[in-house]
Amino acid sequence: MFFATLCAGCNQPGESLCHRCRFSLAATPSHVDESGIMAALAFEGVARQVVHGLKYRNRRAVAREVARLMVRRLRVRSVDVVTWAPTSGARARRRGYDQAELLARAVAAELKVPCRRLLYRSHGGSQTGHSRAERLRGPSFRARSSHGRLRVLLIDDVVTTGATLTAAREALLQAGVGTVICAAAAATPSALQSMRPARRRTAAIASVASTSTHTPRIPTPSAAETLLTTSSRKAVRPASAPSLARAS
Ligand SMILES: [Zn+2]
Repeated sequence: MFFATLCAGCNQPGESLCHRCRFSLAATPSHVDESGIMAALAFEGVARQVVHGLKYRNRRAVAREVARLMVRRLRVRSVDVVTWAPTSGARARRRGYDQAELLARAVAAELKVPCRRLLYRSHGGSQTGHSRAERLRGPSFRARSSHGRLRVLLIDDVVTTGATLTAAREALLQAGVGTVICAAAAATPSALQSMRPARRRTAAIASVASTSTHTPRIPTPSAAETLLTTSSRKAVRPASAPSLARAS
């Protein structure tokens, strides 16, 4: 027998994620930090291999597996749109794709809601290889302006310090988004030190809502439509897009 697919967790031929690795991922709790950032997995062992797999091999199939796991474990419901914290342009170009976007699209497909690019990097580059102090400052983002009180699910692949998701969330809130729920596939062991096991979904959501600068409420259909219509226009570039919010 010849298998073209290898398990992203253990490299055994067969499925993109074998039963044993799936079981191993299910054994650790998901985590949430005090600002409401959630992570479905601890970035170690099998989970680390799987998230690396998302970055470097079998990426579509693994993104679907990880997205399914995130949606199930983080119990994210009733969001209007899914977006992602974009990787620095140079990194994404080198790799040929942005793994955070890949994950966000798979999560959106699971939730059956639209996935839209709402964020652009202003500067700050990649977080990898920077000192902890530099990483704590984080990158900065600009967001498309939003006129509705949308409920946005913001996705990233790995939480290292939380600075990336925090900066991205802030840009979205300043651009007029109603509520931002932050979810990552995994958190590094050092990030986990300032997180606690997420026992219940309500605690995480309530925590996010309490740190938002806007009162969350259900968006009107027209508000959601406005954003989705404008954001689906093609070829909107950060340098020339008049609809982008000045987040700073
Ligand atoms: Zn496996």
